[in-house]
Order: sequence, then C-alpha cells, then structure tokens
Amino acid sequence: MENKLSIYNTLSRKKELFEPINPPFVGMYVCGPTVYGDAHLGHARPAINFDLVFRYLTHLGYKVRYVRNITDVGHLEGDADAGEDKIGKKARLDNIEPMEVVQYFTNQYHRLMDKLNVLRPSIEPHASGHIIEQIDMIQKLLAKGYAYEKNGSVYFDIEAYNKKYDYGILSGRKVEELLAFTRELDGQEEKKSSADFALWKKATPEHLMHWPSPWSEGYPGWHLECSVMGTKYLGEEFDIHGGGLDLQFPHHECEIAQSMATNDKAPVKYWLHNNMITLNGQKMGKSLGNAVSLDDFFTGNHPLLNQAYSPATIRFFMMQAHYRSPLDFSNEALQAAEKGFKKLMAALKSLKSLASGQSSTSEIKELKAKCYEAMNDDFNTPILISHLFEGVRIINSVKDKKESLSADDLSMLKELMNDFVFDILGLKDEAGNENQELINGLMDTILNIRQNARANKDWPTSDLIRDNLQKYNIKVKDTKDGSEWSIE
Ligand code: ZN
Repeated sequence: MENKLSIYNTLSRKKELFEPINPPFVGMYVCGPTVYGDAHLGHARPAINFDLVFRYLTHLGYKVRYVRNITDVGHLEGDADAGEDKIGKKARLDNIEPMEVVQYFTNQYHRLMDKLNVLRPSIEPHASGHIIEQIDMIQKLLAKGYAYEKNGSVYFDIEAYNKKYDYGILSGRKVEELLAFTRELDGQEEKKSSADFALWKKATPEHLMHWPSPWSEGYPGWHLECSVMGTKYLGEEFDIHGGGLDLQFPHHECEIAQSMATNDKAPVKYWLHNNMITLNGQKMGKSLGNAVSLDDFFTGNHPLLNQAYSPATIRFFMMQAHYRSPLDFSNEALQAAEKGFKKLMAALKSLKSLASGQSSTSEIKELKAKCYEAMNDDFNTPILISHLFEGVRIINSVKDKKESLSADDLSMLKELMNDFVFDILGLKDEAGNENQELINGLMDTILNIRQNARANKDWPTSDLIRDNLQKYNIKVKDTKDGSEWSIE
C-alpha cells in the first residue's frame, strides 16, 4: 500500500510525510516509566498512544523495533541534578532493596499494561543494566570537550555545545531564558552554568545505588540513559522518539544535546509528544491529593470515582481524543465512553452473523479510505472513531434489513472493522464470545441446581447459591418460568 502517513514532528513544528531512514525497518524509542510507585493514568497515556503508533506502523507493513526503557536509576526527586533518587527513597522508606522496588513496580506496570492491551515493546532495557555504556558516552563527551569534571561529578557543558550546536531546538527555549528559570540547587556551585546538567553524580553516603567510575563512586544522570540505550539498540540516527509532553524539556532536549555532541548527528528524525491528562479539570498529582491509580479505575475503589471503569473503556476513552490534545477524565465523560464502546462491541458482534444480500454499494470502499485517511493524518483517532461509528450505523441498518450489502462489501466491512477496532486501536471485547458462552452455560447449570433445591424445599442450598453469586455482583431474580440473572 502506498504510504501517505504524515506525522506531526515536534522538532520542525509541522506535519511531515513519514519516510523512514531505512524502510521497511523503523526504529522507535519511547521513554518508559520510572518504576517507584503505583501506575496511574499518566503512565497509561504514552503507553497506549505509542502502542497505537506501533500497531499502525506494523499494520502498514513496517518492521518496527520498539524500544521502551525502564528508568531504575538516576531519576531524582524534582527532576533536578540534586536530591534523593526516587527509587532509592522508596527502598529506604520500605527498608527493602532498591531492585525489589524496581521489580515490584515493573511487574505491576506490565500487569496493568497487559490489561490495557498494550503490546510489549521489542526491547525493554533497564538504565541500571547499561552503566558501562553510560560511562563510555561520558568519556567521549569529556574527550570532545563537551563535558567537565568537578569533585567527582561530570556535567554537560552547554556553553561549549552552543558554540557548534543549538541547545533548545526541540522546545524552542533559549539559554538565557533557561538561566533565568533554573532554581538554585545543591551542587549548583560545581557547575560552570546553572543550565548545565549532570552526566555523572558522585554518590553521597546515604545514596543507595552507586557504581564505580573513573570519576567517583556514583550514578549516571537521568537524561543519559535514553541517549545511550537509543543509540545502542537503534543506532546513531533513528526514526521515531516519543514520550509525554512533560519530557520535552529538559529530558529530550538533553538527550539531543548528548547524542549530537557524541556522534555529530541529529539522533532522531521524528519527535512525537503526547499531551497531558487532567482529572475533573485539574492536574493530577500525589501532592494534589487526586492521584488515582489504574487499579483504582479498574475497581472503582476511589472517592473521586462513581463506578469501576474497565481497561477497554479507559483505552477507548483515550482514543476518542487526539494524542496531541489534553484530555480530561471525569465520571460523565467515562460513562459516555463506556456507552459508546458497548455500542461498538455490540455492532461488531452482530457483524459476525450478518447475511449478505444483492445490492452493491461504493459506501464501504469509501469508508475504508476515510479510515486510512484519518490514521494517516497524524494518527487522528477521534476522526477514525467517528468513521467506525458510520460502520456501526451500516451494520445495524443491514441487521434491521433496511439496507443490504453484497458478499464482497460485507467481507470488506468485516475486514475494515476488525482491522481498525481490534488490531489498530487495540480494543478488546471484554465479554469475549467464547467466555460469554462458557459463563452462560455455567450459570444455567448453577441455576438448575438452585431450582432443584427450591423444588425440594432445600432452602439452605438455594440461599447459599444466591449469596455466593451476590459476591460477584450477580443478581438472581425468581420468576414464574424459572430464574433470571444479571450482573449489576
Ligand atoms: Zn527518556
């Protein structure tokens, strides 16, 4: 298929035709989580968004190597060059090994992302597993004069870099502006300029995670891992780098500077950033008291939530917004999304058993073209979803015998709905057909046993069954013709 995909590139600030460096191969790097706490919505948006990019590129026939890292060292509180390591702090408070913290939250992150039907990346490297490579890059930067050592720590020299390159090209910030906004922090006096950032920090005695290096027993700066692991697995120049908008500055800006200075090449062709999430119109955060974890959403167990929202509802809701738009979560909006998602799933279920007729139409072919057009326009999922609901309208109208489709049209409709809904948007029918049949069969069996018990006036058994079903929110209603059940 002819490639017409255009992507909004944060670097050039415009949409560009997607032309990979070495087609059909595509290298994509996305900044993954720092694993020190419960995964929340903020983690879900980049994961789901870049899962969509990964799925769509794969659908178009590209061979994508998708690298998403795990930050398990060097991400300090306040994202600054000084302060406690987020993972080290959690380990100290819980009196466990830092790597226990890392493993626990990595497992949790995987479990939650699996629920959200986020595909695992091709490579998921850990920062702590690439200390040697990070030391190596620092040595190259020192040798080229883009870094300096002070008291066992090494800093990136922005002034030296700016003689040849341009620090701030991604965010459009100027160095003077940065200097004005950089707060005075511990360790600042070691730096030539407050805009400089740490490549290596000498560990203080209470710092739990540290490694030997030519400069000190210490640890790498947070920005370095992504330059190092991106280069190691995708090469000095690769196609796509993604992450949340909050990472654009300083994290991604520093990444560009480190890689440019080391390899004298722009590391990334297309920079993609997803916008942020708010909850009832407010920024989310632990300090704001409104941080809702993903598990809270799935169980509904949080004062801000009126009910539980399934992973597919959350995913569908995110897809209803364009990834570059901010997205506000509220109960009303989620309930509306849940309704829409159920309608879509019901139509896809009907589609399976739809019979073809005689009439042929150009409608389906046009619908298919429109779906690709939407995705090719910088992954415009809200427009795509509106086209898919046009598909829902057609399905329901054929089902109600108001319209008919030829066998060819019907099979094209089936293919396009399945491709876009399941493979590309990554939505999942949570009441899967086989499971539903199994559940129906089991419920018939259980209710038959209960009917027999009632006929024999065995009330304890009858009540036991009803009470146990209640635990799963299954409500049993006795009617003249037997028992009916529903999930509340
Ligand atoms: Zn990163």
